[in-house]
Amino acid sequence: MKTMPSRIIAVRDEGKDRKTITVHNKEIAEKAHPGQFIMVWIPGVDEIPMGISHIGREEISFTVHRVGEATNALYNKRVNEYIGVRGPYGRGFKEVDGNIIVIGGGTGTAPLMPLIRRLCERGGNNVTVINGAKSIDEMVFKGELNELAKLGKIKYIPATEDGSLGYKGLATTLLENLLREGEMPNEIYVCGPEVMIKRVVEIALERGIHVQALVERYMKCAIGICGSCTMDPLGIRVCVEGPVIPIEILAKITELGVYKRDSSGRKIKI
Ligand SMILES: Cc1cc2nc3c(=O)[nH]c(=O)nc-3n(C[C@H](O)[C@H](O)[C@H](O)COP(=O)(O)OP(=O)(O)OC[C@H]3O[C@@H](n4cnc5c(N)ncnc54)[C@H](O)[C@@H]3O)c2cc1C
Repeated sequence: MKTMPSRIIAVRDEGKDRKTITVHNKEIAEKAHPGQFIMVWIPGVDEIPMGISHIGREEISFTVHRVGEATNALYNKRVNEYIGVRGPYGRGFKEVDGNIIVIGGGTGTAPLMPLIRRLCERGGNNVTVINGAKSIDEMVFKGELNELAKLGKIKYIPATEDGSLGYKGLATTLLENLLREGEMPNEIYVCGPEVMIKRVVEIALERGIHVQALVERYMKCAIGICGSCTMDPLGIRVCVEGPVIPIEILAKITELGVYKRDSSGRKIKI
């Protein structure tokens, strides 16, 4: 897939250090599935992976959290500027109906949004969305999730570590509370900090609940050739076999929540 110059048609603030950028790209919009990602090229800076947070008819969005050079350059982009995008890549979410819990941590809620919208559109699902963040300023998509809750399409439970919005505490503690109170989802979808994903997997394994998690790893090629994003000990390539990985595989990945690799392949503690 080639890199396509794509015009930025909207930029929206998503709280502290986060923005949702929408680009015109009909080709990707027509092909993309919830959970897939794109490679975004910022000329003169770098090319980085971004989860897709909106799939429109002729446009797609991603939600960037500035953490370093490339994400900072993206954060500062304006409407009508061009960036390069290629994709969509990877395996997205397998969409399951029924009693569903969706858990997003920090910016991790963003790539869950197309899935949440899809589950709502199909109707007949009982969808609970836990949106966790350190504080209200770091919580993305709270407005849209509130709207969906007002329309009765989801049960929305924000959770902040500092108590600035909703439940005070970790999203995973809230999940445990819900399960203890008798909620019995047939599927949990999660994306966020890896320690959070790891904890969700532990909680779900104890109770026999199926999980699909969107996992992030350092990527270069995004097409399964370079090996930068492989995970130990299975050697699965997150760009091709992921980024959405089911619990059967997650349970066997020993590096999950423990370490990742940098651009040179060196292990970094998480
Ligand atoms: C499938 C996937 C989906 C992603 N979706 C989003 C998203 O929706 N929003 C968002 O803000 N971020 C997302 N990321 C992470 C984002 O790609 C990195 O934050 C970004 O590449 C960091 O680049 P930088 O130059 O700003 O920071 P750097 O200075 O390079 O690094 C800052 C941190 O980001 C990590 N990182 C650096 N490069 C990559 C890379 N190519 N892949 C993964 N991690 C990297 C580093 O290990 C370091 O911890 C996603 C990553 C993957 C793999």
